[in-house]
Amino acid sequence: MNTTPATDTGGAVGTAAVDTVIIGGGQSGLALGYYLAQQHRDFVILDAGTRVGDAWRSRWDSLRLFTPAKYDGLPGRPFPGDPLAFPTKDEQADYLEDYASRFHLPVRPNSAVTRLSHDGQRFQVTAGTQRWTAANVVLATGACQLPRTPGFAAELPSDVVQLHSHQYRNPGQLQPGSVLVVGVGNSGAEIALETSRTHETWLAGKPSGELPFRHGRAAARFVFPVIRFAGLHVLTTNTPVGRKALPKIGAMARPLIRTKLADLGAAGVHLVPRVTGVEDGEVMLDGGRRLSVANVIWCTGFTEAYPWLDIPALPANWREQQHRGIVDALPGLYLLGKELIFAEASETLPGVGRDAKYLAKRLAATRTPQPAAEVRSGLAA
Ligand SMILES: Cc1cc2nc3c(=O)[nH]c(=O)nc-3n(C[C@H](O)[C@H](O)[C@H](O)COP(=O)(O)OP(=O)(O)OC[C@H]3O[C@@H](n4cnc5c(N)ncnc54)[C@H](O)[C@@H]3O)c2cc1C
Repeated sequence: MNTTPATDTGGAVGTAAVDTVIIGGGQSGLALGYYLAQQHRDFVILDAGTRVGDAWRSRWDSLRLFTPAKYDGLPGRPFPGDPLAFPTKDEQADYLEDYASRFHLPVRPNSAVTRLSHDGQRFQVTAGTQRWTAANVVLATGACQLPRTPGFAAELPSDVVQLHSHQYRNPGQLQPGSVLVVGVGNSGAEIALETSRTHETWLAGKPSGELPFRHGRAAARFVFPVIRFAGLHVLTTNTPVGRKALPKIGAMARPLIRTKLADLGAAGVHLVPRVTGVEDGEVMLDGGRRLSVANVIWCTGFTEAYPWLDIPALPANWREQQHRGIVDALPGLYLLGKELIFAEASETLPGVGRDAKYLAKRLAATRTPQPAAEVRSGLAA
């Protein structure tokens, strides 16, 4: 397997040919890599981060997974330790790093893909000075790419500290004064609970319910198996109930998993209606109330985005025209680990291994003839 692009003496890089490029070396890219390595396939995993696991490592300091360890492992390697424990985000990151090295997966860190094109025959992948051609490309870049923040955030006075949840690490980043957390999803609720210990905290938005049991070891033992079964086998595009429910689930906010509204109340978090705009430096709430705060944390979610995708022939709705990660519009293009691509669990650790196995089987069934091992670009003459 030659997955190293040739380099000329000036640091410019030639073009290496591989069968499959996986863009993204998070849990999705690694799970697929495990299966492709078993097939002895010629592939490479390009990742923008400096270390495997960085997507988890860069989340806020106190984050623990919602899913118990027994569901947090990838194919071929159970998550070590107590199966009913909830790993910290760093333990999960370290597990992924160990996984990549244990199975010798060809991950190339510091390789942010800046362009993906197609010449009618093969894909061209550019990552800085590296270039690859491939018969198949798998987009495993996660569902949390572009942080979403409302446009009126820019109208807040410059002395208000503003962070998106992906930038938030701990309350030490905040200035004295009150905090407004915008968005009552799981991130918003957990972050508000944390900031309420050091700052007066307001939490804006409409809660969309909470799980009707306490999150913890007992739930991991008795309730999570049922949730996992439903997310993996019932709520899929293969079942009538799944086909009906998945579009609705996609459009809905998820219920709170670990934090209860009663916990927020007991911690003194003020629950207020959704934010509608900014006026005279103050935050406007639905119903007309105004808030003047020192800090705002936007827990307003993410958008899946591919700004580097440069394939004009793809129809605008190519993302919707996919089945179990196989993009109908362009043979050889695949998605993995994205929200609801097959099942309710597709974007999560309990679901990604099964989706990866399916894609690997499809890739094996459509093995394409390989061109010469190395296609020189002319740069490295
Ligand atoms: C706060 C939070 C808590 C969560 N908790 C849980 C939980 O408890 N259990 C659970 O199962 N799921 C959880 N999830 C959901 C899900 O498991 C994670 O989002 C997970 O990180 C998704 O894995 P992934 O490999 O698909 O994407 P990511 O982990 O996001 O990995 C994508 C990789 O692609 C790389 N990348 C992106 N763009 C490029 C590019 N242009 N070129 C090269 N590389 C690129 C990134 O560097 C990254 O390493 C949580 C999500 C969040 C946000």
